[in-house]
Amino acid sequence: MALSPEIKKKVMEKIIPFVKSCPLCGNDNFTVNDYIYVCPTMQLETNKVDLRSVFPAIMIDCDNCHYTFIFHAIKAGIIEH
Ligand SMILES: [Zn+2]
Repeated sequence: MALSPEIKKKVMEKIIPFVKSCPLCGNDNFTVNDYIYVCPTMQLETNKVDLRSVFPAIMIDCDNCHYTFIFHAIKAGIIEH
């Protein structure tokens, strides 16, 4: 499901002001990805994927070189736990 207008508004208010320019090309135009991607973590002790521990990622792409900024959606205050 694509991000709701409310979540996109939170991204624009809480994250975009901190994304000044792309660290690779210097561009200052970005696109907020339409989805939150949930990435499982890898447990280093067992070298296995732990599906109980995930990283909910908000991704913001540079419109020029497509470098992607990744923010933790819960810690950034975009979604609730
Ligand atoms: Zn760039």
